[in-house]
Amino acid sequence: MKNKSTGKRLEKIFEFAKNNSAFYKKHFKKFNTVSALNFYKLPFLESKHLYKNTPPNGIGLLSGPAKNCYVLITGGTAKKPKYVFRSMEDFKEKSKYFKGIKLKPSDRVANLFSAGMWGGFISWNKSLEEAGCLIAPLGHVSLEPENIEATLKIMKDLKINTLFGVPTTIIRFAQYLEKKGNKAKKSKIEKILTGGELITKDMQKYLSKVFKGALIRSLYATTETAVIGFQCERLKTNRYHIFDNQYLEIVDPQTGKPTEKGRTGEIVVTNLDKRLMPVVRFKTGDIGRLTEKKCKCDYCGKTLELFGRLDSTLCIEGTNVPLNAVSEAITSFPRLSQNFQMVARKKNKKDQLLVKIETNSKKVPTALARKVKSKINKNISESLSNIEVEIVAENSLPKNKTSGKIARVADKRRKVF
Ligand SMILES: [Zn+2]
Repeated sequence: MKNKSTGKRLEKIFEFAKNNSAFYKKHFKKFNTVSALNFYKLPFLESKHLYKNTPPNGIGLLSGPAKNCYVLITGGTAKKPKYVFRSMEDFKEKSKYFKGIKLKPSDRVANLFSAGMWGGFISWNKSLEEAGCLIAPLGHVSLEPENIEATLKIMKDLKINTLFGVPTTIIRFAQYLEKKGNKAKKSKIEKILTGGELITKDMQKYLSKVFKGALIRSLYATTETAVIGFQCERLKTNRYHIFDNQYLEIVDPQTGKPTEKGRTGEIVVTNLDKRLMPVVRFKTGDIGRLTEKKCKCDYCGKTLELFGRLDSTLCIEGTNVPLNAVSEAITSFPRLSQNFQMVARKKNKKDQLLVKIETNSKKVPTALARKVKSKINKNISESLSNIEVEIVAENSLPKNKTSGKIARVADKRRKVF
């Protein structure tokens, strides 16, 4: 059963959204009041609503004037950005995000998220301000090949001991250090916090190998909802304790109905605090399940097991190939990096899975392709003959210039608009 205070907070955010935002007034017109028991009946907030109710199509989603706030961009494309508004209030008391990595004022943090309007960077900086530590706002471009040596010097000069960034960026940094040999040992990184992308168990394993002894944790967040979950020291890679200002539901992605207790489905989030741009029942497009198993730390709420994006598994002729299966297959090859891409495409009218993997070494070990292919086949339910593995040079997979992320899963069989 949901506790009373959560019920009250749900009522409050519903009332606030309905009374102050033109969009929610219409969206919730059939409902006068809600409680924790019928909250699931409210319609979802979906990306299409965000587009229709933010500039240039008005500000229907906002509860007041767009003043004293930050505007962030998420998803979409450069031609069709999706705007998210955050008030200064939304950034307050967020140093709790760093509980999992035990951030202290004496820590020296490199913020390697993408600077600019893309969600992460500014949010991390604002939260870091509260934590009281030294902040080096480097941004992900600081690790581009032409800047990386200068960045290493800055990190050394400032005795940086903590890295924040998307897994793609941190992995790329690890690859570089690994190639340099003993420099990695000298980097003295003690804590790493990732976010913005799913980190697989094997990606984490790779980072642990390069940054020996570092505490590696991640946060689960979306730009729309802000940070949702954190990892205490005891949680496994894809598990997150939920912050008490986030209310999570798990629904069937097709029907939108709540799934049975403990079952997997799409994650729907309500932020109980956000006021300038309320987020009520936002369909995240992420897949997970909630468990109530008690953790050995002092946290006593629900724990989310996150399986990634709805589209992070490719179905090739009836066989599911999840991102994790490929990540795991790569682990046994030290010359290969955890920066890879899975593409489903049509070849000779048949579905084919193309896996492109970056190497860690100077020479591209193309001969490994066959072995990787058989490893992937061992990790999936049915062996596929139509997998092609391509080993490519370090730093060669295209990444999104703004977010710094690699498009890890792409389906080229469908038309993408
Ligand atoms: Zn815990």
